[in-house]
Amino acid sequence: MAVVDPLIELRGVNKHFGTLHVLQSIDLTVGRGEVVVVIGPSGSGKSTLCRAINRLESVESGEILIDGQPLPEEGKALARLRAEVGMVFQSFNLFAHKTVLANVSLAQIKVRKRKKEDADRRSRELLARVGLAAQADKYPAQLSGGQQQRVAIARALAMDPKALLFDEPTSALDPEMINEVLEVMQQLARDGMTMVVVTHEMGFARSAANRVVFMADGRIVEDRAPEEFFTAPRSERAKDFLSKIL
Ligand code: ADP
Ligand code: MG
Repeated sequence: MAVVDPLIELRGVNKHFGTLHVLQSIDLTVGRGEVVVVIGPSGSGKSTLCRAINRLESVESGEILIDGQPLPEEGKALARLRAEVGMVFQSFNLFAHKTVLANVSLAQIKVRKRKKEDADRRSRELLARVGLAAQADKYPAQLSGGQQQRVAIARALAMDPKALLFDEPTSALDPEMINEVLEVMQQLARDGMTMVVVTHEMGFARSAANRVVFMADGRIVEDRAPEEFFTAPRSERAKDFLSKIL
């Protein structure tokens, strides 16, 4: 699809794990302010795609550009990239021995070199934004899974990222906690955050996504507006997948 103002661009990206061709000639452009939902069967390469965008995985060929810049190989430039493209995982990965506030402030101090007072002030703003102002001084174990995931989102936002990647952010949550996380993500989308979201939450895809990317066997099989994709999938793989989850 034509994208007006590209923020994330992948061109001809390939990667193998041993003999498994996990990313096969991936072309994907995400425009500034766009929300792209990535769906597809387990093992199709969705997580690897996200990790490649953040360079948690290297790729063998092709180009990945963030805001027009190629992904740096290593060092400080890579740390900066990771700050610019935040990632939220299925497991929240909070530091258990640090308070919620300290979890959100930590990378601001270490990576963004903010003073602790400034970082804490920003953290409190962001915790309020995700509905957790009252939980700042608690420890992760005192929070529900949905609250912990919202802390992880606040922590990612604290880097002032240009884009956020979400890899199945609600898959580890009890059903009653899924909506509170999706609502925060919906609000981010409305606020214009550029987001790539791997999820099986089709309601979210329908209401928040500008595009749905369907992956199977390491390939992007469809890349279309959600209504088109859900009402008239073109490929047999997508039809089969949708018949199993809808
Ligand atoms: P998805 O997120 O769509 O379920 P993944 O990107 O996690 O798919 O994985 C795609 C394929 O690559 C799977 O077959 C998986 O087993 C394999 N894979 C993922 N990570 C590794 C790894 N570090 N080493 C070897 N194989 C891997
Ligand atoms: Mg995955």
